[in-house]
Amino acid sequence: MADTALITGITGQDGSYLAELLVGLGYNVYGLVRGQNNPRLPVVAQLCPAVEFIEGDLLDQSSLIAALEICQPTEVYNLGAISFVSLSYKQAVLTGEVSGLGVTRMLEAIRTVNPRIRFFQASSSEMFGKVRERPQNELTGFHPRSPYGVAKVYAHYITANYRESYGIFACSGILFNHESPRRGLEFVTRKITSGAARIKLGLQPNLALGNLETERDWGFAGEYVDAMHRMLQQAEPRDFVVATGETHGLREFLQVAFSRVGLNWEDHVISDPRFLRPIDVDSLIGDASRARDELGWIPKTSFEDLVTMMVDADLTLQERLVSQVGR
Ligand code: NAP
Repeated sequence: MADTALITGITGQDGSYLAELLVGLGYNVYGLVRGQNNPRLPVVAQLCPAVEFIEGDLLDQSSLIAALEICQPTEVYNLGAISFVSLSYKQAVLTGEVSGLGVTRMLEAIRTVNPRIRFFQASSSEMFGKVRERPQNELTGFHPRSPYGVAKVYAHYITANYRESYGIFACSGILFNHESPRRGLEFVTRKITSGAARIKLGLQPNLALGNLETERDWGFAGEYVDAMHRMLQQAEPRDFVVATGETHGLREFLQVAFSRVGLNWEDHVISDPRFLRPIDVDSLIGDASRARDELGWIPKTSFEDLVTMMVDADLTLQERLVSQVGR
């Protein structure tokens, strides 16, 4: 019989990539969708026509139990979260409820409906925050620097706790930043690639950004979902860092993105204090050797190819929008 997966956060960046992967592997795939008229649902439904959708919310315990009873999954991938660090400062309590306690609600639902369900939690490199060592691995201590990072630390430990307390096959992928043309427009990488495309087409004059000193380990989302799936196929549940092992500065990201459209980023990027976080995380760089050795997972998309892929997709999107308006 085919495996069945339930994905929370199906309307987010990773949700559709994971759904495509699992459908391709022969899974029955269900996606948990929040709200009575979620505007992102039609996009996912078009990208992944084989996925069935179930209404539910990580804030609502009974909706999670009902979702598991409806689809009877063998695997649950918890990608749902308030995932935007800036928003987590403005809505710290909600972030704790969704990204932290929401994980406990799902684990409780699993314990109630079927404790044999395998559970994946999307942990984050933001948990390392003020980093204790470079590169960061599965044993590196946490020092989160935002309500988002704090909520993710709670979620990480509650996942380990349900594994140890109840023997649930529950594990976390400590995901370093991963991007794609499906990244939300509020995130800095997509803001840059969309901005570069729009400036090139004369649709906006410049781009306002916050901290330009940021350094991150950026990979391609389409490959990170493969690591999630591999984690749930292991004999024993274990946590894994998922990262490229390379760090790049935001200025380098800007340079690659703007030069792709024949522009100099320094002529267009302006600094706007409104986009600064109260405090930021240090330079992040992950050591994914456990994922390489035990999962056979190796990222293939280079930093340059990732940025180029995103700029090209945004240029195509913006050109299409311009031609639709012109018609
Ligand atoms: P994303 O694009 O921001 O998607 C977040 C998803 O969570 C959306 O589908 C959203 O649904 C859903 N969600 C929000 N509140 C919810 C609630 N109350 N109940 C149920 N679902 C809710 O995030 P992503 O980039 O795909 O990331 C996937 C996961 O990996 C997240 O947990 C994120 O924190 C984690 N992560 C991501 C990165 C990264 O670089 N992308 C790095 C480390 C960890 P709506 O459509 O209803 O808003």
